[in-house]
Amino acid sequence: MSQNKKIIVAIDGFSSTGKSTVAKELANKLGYVYVDTGAMYRMVALYAFRNNCIDDNTFDVEKLVGLLDQINVNFIFNEKVGFAEAYLNDVNVESEIRSLQISGFVSKVASVSEVRAKLVEIQKRLGQQKGLVMDGRDIGTVVFPEAELKLFMTASARTRAQRRYDELIAKGDDVTFEAILENVTSRDAQDTSRKDSPLVKAEDAIEIDNSNLTREEQFDKIYQLALTAIQS
Ligand code: C5P
Repeated sequence: MSQNKKIIVAIDGFSSTGKSTVAKELANKLGYVYVDTGAMYRMVALYAFRNNCIDDNTFDVEKLVGLLDQINVNFIFNEKVGFAEAYLNDVNVESEIRSLQISGFVSKVASVSEVRAKLVEIQKRLGQQKGLVMDGRDIGTVVFPEAELKLFMTASARTRAQRRYDELIAKGDDVTFEAILENVTSRDAQDTSRKDSPLVKAEDAIEIDNSNLTREEQFDKIYQLALTAIQS
């Protein structure tokens, strides 16, 4: 096996399909960098919310676009948790960006072309050295159309909502299953219908429906696909 060949693994798919869990595991196993692009959009959404650009009823796109230069998104590896945590303007926001409230705003913020252009530029730079696993909605189609391995993850909306619900409840958040299901399906609709870089399976992506796969089964399958791509 050509040990030195480094590739880019692009993982796209619907909300809460477990993309980031498998991407993190794969990056750790291969010794690659992992980048969660959803966290980047979530950080911009958090910034927009904190700076009164968005709330439940209004979204001042111009104001947010005017503030984009003030937003610095970054990841810093935390050995204790075993992954890189999200930092917005040098403050750890890993927990805040996962709240249901920010999940409610993020797809609106992600539909703004200026936001996408800023984040895609950063994402492309992170891939220059290869050796990268990146997950999101447009990684195989827009960010790295040349990625050596592209995966597209799916699972039923109820399965995904249940997983998200279990995660948030374990964190102590006060949420209902119905609210999570509503958020998951509404983000799917917004992400697939937006004009700029909609969520769509790249023609050459391998689809993985994990509704009935255990975490281990899914990981084994994806790890083998990565090894094959590295060796070819
Ligand atoms: O992956 P995650 O669910 O954390 O992503 C949050 C939201 O960010 C998505 O619902 C989508 O609106 C947006 N997103 C995107 N493009 C990406 C990653 C995320 O539009 N590459």
